[in-house]
Amino acid sequence: MARKKLIAGNWKMNGLTADGTALAKGIASEVKALGKVQCEFLVCPPFTLLAAVKKALRGAKVALGGQDCHFENKGAHTGDISPLMLTDLGCSYVILGHSERRADHGESNELVCKKAVAAHQAGLKTVICIGETLAQRDAGQTIDVCSRQILGSVPESATSANTVIAYEPVWAIGTGKTPTAQDVEEVHAAVRKVLAQKLGRGNASKMRILYGGSVKPSNAAEFLSLPDVDGALIGGASLKVEDFMAIAKNSGC
Ligand code: PEP
Repeated sequence: MARKKLIAGNWKMNGLTADGTALAKGIASEVKALGKVQCEFLVCPPFTLLAAVKKALRGAKVALGGQDCHFENKGAHTGDISPLMLTDLGCSYVILGHSERRADHGESNELVCKKAVAAHQAGLKTVICIGETLAQRDAGQTIDVCSRQILGSVPESATSANTVIAYEPVWAIGTGKTPTAQDVEEVHAAVRKVLAQKLGRGNASKMRILYGGSVKPSNAAEFLSLPDVDGALIGGASLKVEDFMAIAKNSGC
């Protein structure tokens, strides 16, 4: 079953109006220049840039996503953004459970799951992040940790059409360190097995599982050619048009 690769950029808390708009325009024109693309493209700017980036992407096959959302659609939640607010701004995706949210905001699997249900109800596709810390890896717990995160964070409403999983070893994010290709394939294959237990084989075989953690143009082909790797979630390298597009091109998009 062919799964269309997803090349997703997580801009995190980076970009003001001028540089965010320029980055989006650069990506839009490069994607247009590719013509018929084999992959799906997604950019997830900070909330403050969603409207400007939506405008800058006009006419290009690049989806827009938020980096988080609340599990309610409105109400007394100062500083939060709801799933409906994201769709209202033209988002079709939202990243949930990124390790930085789990660490900085104490987000649990249960909370991520609740957010995912709300996002699906609002019509958003979710990119649900999982991944082990270095201590967990050193203790040989990688697959256990990722399995628990899948079981706890992925809701029953998840299907291959509305959910993408991103495996991001915490110790590889923004560090320049990466697991070996063999390690990545082993985790992705294990994750797909757990997804099959939870959501059935049909959904599991069609669901995209991205790798994230220091993906750059020079290592993209190695990771994205693995049988169970269906794209990349890219942080630092998604902030430069050339790097983001080189990752896509080197991955056969
Ligand atoms: C990320 O934050 O999702 C990420 C993978 O970051 P980086 O590519 O910078 O490691």
